[in-house]
Amino acid sequence: MSHWSNWSGSVEARPARVEQPRTIAELAALVQSAGKVRVVGAGHSFMPLCATDGALLSLADLEGGVTIDETASRAWVPAGCSLDKLTKLLWDKGWSLINQGDVNPQSLAGAIATGTHGTGATLGSLSTAARAFELMTHDGSIARCSPTENADLFEAQRLSLGLFGVATRIEIDILPAYHLEERLEVLPLDAIAERWNELAAENRHVEFFVFPYADLALMKILNPAPSEGEMREQKDMDDTSFRKVCETCRTFPFMTGFLQRRILPKEMKRRRVGPAYRIFPSDRTVKFEEMEYELPRNNGWPALREVIGWIRKKKLPVAFPFEFRLVAADDIWMSPFKGRDGASVSMHQYHRMAWRDIFAEAESMFRAHDGRPHWAKRHTLMTKDVHDLYPDAQRFCAVRDRMDPQAKFANAHLMELFGIETRAS
Ligand SMILES: Cc1cc2nc3c(=O)[nH]c(=O)nc-3n(C[C@H](O)[C@H](O)[C@H](O)COP(=O)(O)OP(=O)(O)OC[C@H]3O[C@@H](n4cnc5c(N)ncnc54)[C@H](O)[C@@H]3O)c2cc1C
Repeated sequence: MSHWSNWSGSVEARPARVEQPRTIAELAALVQSAGKVRVVGAGHSFMPLCATDGALLSLADLEGGVTIDETASRAWVPAGCSLDKLTKLLWDKGWSLINQGDVNPQSLAGAIATGTHGTGATLGSLSTAARAFELMTHDGSIARCSPTENADLFEAQRLSLGLFGVATRIEIDILPAYHLEERLEVLPLDAIAERWNELAAENRHVEFFVFPYADLALMKILNPAPSEGEMREQKDMDDTSFRKVCETCRTFPFMTGFLQRRILPKEMKRRRVGPAYRIFPSDRTVKFEEMEYELPRNNGWPALREVIGWIRKKKLPVAFPFEFRLVAADDIWMSPFKGRDGASVSMHQYHRMAWRDIFAEAESMFRAHDGRPHWAKRHTLMTKDVHDLYPDAQRFCAVRDRMDPQAKFANAHLMELFGIETRAS
């Protein structure tokens, strides 16, 4: 038995075997022989999506390359390819992803399976960029799905949590390579709130980070721009001093507010231009636990204000900032952005500090604002909640039942979440 844990260290598992198949034939043999299978990408999910006592498979070394259809602006990509590797490779061939999230170690399949997103009022999650999948099913055969082939499997697979099989290749929309201008600015939170709709409309990407006890926030704006040559390295946060602040908050929780009111400089404006794939991702070395709720666009600010107000009133030690982003509506069955433009509020806690009770109470506030959780981040939904929040959950479960009747690809968390019962063979 091996030991496995996720990025933050909050999920641990003892898989019977951990394998990294190199060929489709090896993968088929593993899927056929295993009782239970989960696939892991970079293990960046906070929920126990990859935990298993069966076989844990990584597709990082699976055969296959990237093929680009220049006319259609699409690429077939090996599903286990990391976003880091993929975006470099695309750049070298003159292409970029449409949008990216905060970091890039995730696998393409893992990011799409959980609805991973960046920010941008008119930009959908990575799941919306998926055009077709090749999937190894429970008997080791390959199924293809797209809007015109196995259409219901495609709809379910666009945000799948890995429940239908092992994605081996994914076709995605891409854009001709572009540069981005990044502007970082410290501003009063109230000033950002006042101009928010304008900022969202005028910029391709806008987001901000705000510590719960601070009145200033760090705003980040990205827009396409012509290249200016060599890109300057620039971090939004100095990790060494931030880690010290977190450790101080952990040892002396009563100092959290005092420290957070001083962490951002009163004035700060920075700018740089670089290739999109290098500007999008940050390097997050201070570990945290995270819950994220996707709210209807107009409920984002009231939800953020309420949760921050509650933290202040109760003097709760929350060491990390909130992150506030925008994501466009989509039509994906299990997407938290289905049918509504979203405001995405991420609540983080330093990984060495208590988070469970604080997240649980804040979660009820996000839920009261009509929020739906990010599937990869901490939430406490039960089967009934899933069906209440997602009218298409029934169709999703019906496809799962058909594709994987023995629930080979489900683990304990997903069986509970979707009320999956195994059928006798
Ligand atoms: C530091 C950090 C920053 C983050 N930033 C963002 C962000 O900006 N925006 C955002 O939306 N999220 C963000 N996340 C969440 C992260 O993007 C998701 O958890 C994503 O799923 C991680 O990708 P992964 O490759 O690590 O997937 P894993 O966590 O390894 O797996 C996720 C799911 O995908 C399934 N899966 C993986 N590969 C396959 C495959 N080949 N076939 C079938 N199923 C598969 C797994 O079984 C599992 O269900 C962040 C997480 C961390 C730790």
